[in-house]
Amino acid sequence: MQPLIVDGIAISHPDREVFGQGGPTKGDVATYYEAVAPLMLPELRGRPLSVVRCPRGTSGACFFQKHHADALGKHVKAVSLKEKDGADAQYLYVDDVEGLLELVQMNALEFHPWGARVDNPDQPDRLIFDIDPAKGVDWKTVVACARDIRERLQANGLESFVRASGGKGLHVVAPLRRGPSWEAVKAFCEGMADAMVADAPTRYIAEASKARREGLIFIDWLRNTRGATSVAGWSLRARPGAPVAMPLRWEEIARLKTGGAFDVKRALKRAASLEADPWEGIASLEQTLPT
Ligand code: ATP
Ligand code: MN
Repeated sequence: MQPLIVDGIAISHPDREVFGQGGPTKGDVATYYEAVAPLMLPELRGRPLSVVRCPRGTSGACFFQKHHADALGKHVKAVSLKEKDGADAQYLYVDDVEGLLELVQMNALEFHPWGARVDNPDQPDRLIFDIDPAKGVDWKTVVACARDIRERLQANGLESFVRASGGKGLHVVAPLRRGPSWEAVKAFCEGMADAMVADAPTRYIAEASKARREGLIFIDWLRNTRGATSVAGWSLRARPGAPVAMPLRWEEIARLKTGGAFDVKRALKRAASLEADPWEGIASLEQTLPT
């Protein structure tokens, strides 16, 4: 089998069914990312990136990779960042469709950027609440939780944006003017999550422990730490059915049934027919955390 050339990048084994029999092939994954790259790259460019690679498809072992390697391709960039233990390490990021496709060639399926940029990894430029419903929590409650977060952020002077995770839940993201530390942003998010639990303890939980989550929504504020990631809009998920994480307009969330409502086909249709980026304006908002 000849490699498939997509935007000048050679994709080997394009007929390999990476999501199982009858599902999207590696070639489909490459042409998918080529099609959505203009919508996706604004969220990837200049941010340290972790990728989920599945060399044997989603039925084999998949792993998160955050470190750079020359073998990833010549458009995949490196940035030297401090690890937790103080040592320097090379992290990876991409700025263009060629870099994105070189990672696809290396069997990357999912793309997870930091909430900070390579030129200043210690100052986040966005905060995130990851809404994780336990099994059995209905979608209406998930939607209400996202709206509640949006309103509380608004009350603090912060506009926010919402994405379907491609899995069970929703993510609410607010852009920030850089300045406050990760600690400050995390403390703000923890305070908000705690207030939500205090107001609705039968619906929400803000503790990472899995034990008491049954029937509740875990409002995960812990993603707001240096090195934490969240999945980028338009990223595939390495899960059955090839779902896609999707940036949405706030009005759209009520019409979904799950965070995994978009698959490749539906995402491509949406990309082709979108009149405006659902997250339009996120890059130009200059918002500050309340003190
Ligand atoms: P769902 O809606 O199903 O929860 P999700 O993308 O929010 O989907 P989570 O398990 O809640 O999935 O994880 C939140 C984020 O944490 C992910 O988007 C990912 O960026 C990051 N993450 C999850 N697992 C790992 C891991 N093993 N290594 C590094 N980052 C991870
Ligand atoms: Mn989640």
